[in-house]
Amino acid sequence: MGGVNLAGIGMTSQRTRDRLIERLYDQGITSHRVIDSIRSVPRHIFIDEALAHRAYEDTALPIGHNQTISQPFIVARMTEALLAAGPLKKVLEIGTGSGYQTAVLANLVDDVRTVERIQPLQARARQKLRMIKAHNVLFRHSDGGMGWPEEGPYNGILVTAAPENIPDELLQQLAVGGRLVIPVGGQEQGLYRITRTESGFEKEYLEAVRFVPLLSGVIR
Ligand code: SAH
Repeated sequence: MGGVNLAGIGMTSQRTRDRLIERLYDQGITSHRVIDSIRSVPRHIFIDEALAHRAYEDTALPIGHNQTISQPFIVARMTEALLAAGPLKKVLEIGTGSGYQTAVLANLVDDVRTVERIQPLQARARQKLRMIKAHNVLFRHSDGGMGWPEEGPYNGILVTAAPENIPDELLQQLAVGGRLVIPVGGQEQGLYRITRTESGFEKEYLEAVRFVPLLSGVIR
C-alpha cells in the first residue's frame, strides 16, 4: 500500500521500538508471548502519519472521532490478564478503534472477533490488519455492548471502552472457564477480570485505568 513502511524508519525504527519493549518489562509486564507480539506489531501504521513519530512512546494517541489508540502498557496488561491461564482459542474484542490491540491479540489466539460502533474507524482498522496479514480476524460494525452472540461463546472477551456497569450480554457470551477483561466506571475506573465458572462468575480487581466510555448506538 502506497508509502507505508512496515519496518519503520527514524522514530519508528527497530531501535525505537526496542526501547518501548524494555520499558514494558521495567513496568512489570512478564509474559514473553505478549511482549513478542507487541514487538512484532508496527504500531506506527495504526496512527495518522502526522503522529507516527510518537508511535513508540508509551502513551495513548488520538485516532480521530474523539477516540484514542490505547497506551502500549495497557494493551500489554490487558492481554496478559486475558491470557494468564494459557493460550485461548476464540476471543472477542469490543472497541476495535485503530485495530492495534486487535493485531496484538491476533498473534496470540486462534480467532479474533472485533466490534466497533464507528464505521470509518472500523474500515481503517480492517485495512491495516489486511496489510499485516492478520487473517484470523472478523470485524463487525455494531454496538458492542450486545457482544456478538452469533459467534460465541468466547474463551476470552476484552473490552477497550468503559461501561458504567458490566453488560450482562458479555457475561452470557463467555464459555465456562472463559474470562472477560473490562474497564468499568465513569470518572474513576477500575480494570476487572471476570472468570466464568461452572457455577457462576468470579470477579477480580486488577488496577485503576482510564478509558473512553463505552457508548451505545452506532455511527456510520
Ligand atoms: N483497542 C483500541 C482502543 C480504541 S478506544 C485501540 O487500541 O486502538 C475504544 C474504542 O471503543 C473506540 O474506537 C470507540 O468507538 C469504541 N466503542 C465505544 N463504545 C463502543 C460500543 N458500544 N461498541 C463498540 N465499540 C465501542
